[in-house]
Amino acid sequence: MYDYNMLTPGPSKVRKNVLEARAIQAGNSDLDPEFYDFYKRTCAKYSHFLNTANPSFLLSGEGILGLEAACASLTEPGDRVLVLDNGIFGRGFADFVRIYGGEPVLFSTDPHAPIAPEALRAFLKKDADFRYATLVHCDTPSGVLNDIHALCPILKEYGILTVVDSVSGMFGNPVDARHAKIDILLGGSQKALSCPTGLTMVTVSQDAFRRMEARKTPIASFYANLLALRDYYEKQWFPYTMPACDIHGFARALDNVLEEPGIFARHARVAAGVREALVAGGLSLYLKDGFSNTVTVFRVPQGLTDTDILSALLRDHKILLAGAFDVLAHKVIRIGHMGEAANDEDMLAALTALSDVLPKLGFALKGDMVQTYRYSAMR
Ligand SMILES: *Cc1c(COP(=O)(O)O)cnc(C)c1O
Repeated sequence: MYDYNMLTPGPSKVRKNVLEARAIQAGNSDLDPEFYDFYKRTCAKYSHFLNTANPSFLLSGEGILGLEAACASLTEPGDRVLVLDNGIFGRGFADFVRIYGGEPVLFSTDPHAPIAPEALRAFLKKDADFRYATLVHCDTPSGVLNDIHALCPILKEYGILTVVDSVSGMFGNPVDARHAKIDILLGGSQKALSCPTGLTMVTVSQDAFRRMEARKTPIASFYANLLALRDYYEKQWFPYTMPACDIHGFARALDNVLEEPGIFARHARVAAGVREALVAGGLSLYLKDGFSNTVTVFRVPQGLTDTDILSALLRDHKILLAGAFDVLAHKVIRIGHMGEAANDEDMLAALTALSDVLPKLGFALKGDMVQTYRYSAMR
């Protein structure tokens, strides 16, 4: 058991009823017809939450498995794949495309703002010869939220399949997979759903399955082959044994979400309050625009280091925030307010701790962050 307050952009906190739901004797998930029914029912409930009739699948593996499975299943050697890039995860899709023999073509835009739909449209007018496109809903290291509901339909107009990573976006920001025309939608258990790490959720359109069936070359993976999962229910067969306890926890966490109609409003309110508070304190938000409701990212003030700030928060206040990695390493600090952590008590604790630590390290606050949060988010 950890003894700090975990306010990171994944993994996130887990409610007790989810922990309890996992602690069961699960039976034989390969042989028990009831498990197949339970799995199908749970996946259908999840698809319904995302407003799509497309089937969903729960894969045993962390979110990255979903990203890889989408690329493994869709990419054939030589395929051109459009990689929408305004952040580290966005750009990262190029690696998966390359691993499976594809040729990634990057469409890179300002990392401080969401991808502009008009810019994508202008790009596609010149070149739209792509097998599929990848994009990220919330690019977690910067917290930028892309308008997938505007971007994906543009790609589909050009006949390009869409792969969307909403691992850290969904459950904190609305996703309507039908209106967005998403072909493969990816989620992860440990972000705003507030489950332990270990499952990735993959929702697949008929267009995407048709593309997989039409391949000239076999999918170059066993574990990441989405086509192998498609008919599990008819065949009463999974390609590998499903982690039943994880899926029971997932089902409970999903019910927690469904029992809270105001879940998006809660995330929006808390996120806006945190941003206002940080700005009032004189801190500088990384983004100009396009803030996700699941994470807030601010720059490390000049003269201070992320390591000093993060370790003082942990040592003196038992608050765990996160730095970032890749091109953002040491440049920013991230406050996760996703799922169970998106609440006033935790945000007040984080802001109180920052209000203590930053001045001690030499940064003079411009205003009262805690009071600002109270006025902004708790009226
Ligand atoms: C968390 C996350 C994943 C999964 O990646 P890890 O680095 O293994 O946590 C994938 N995509 C996004 C956008 C994420 O936030």
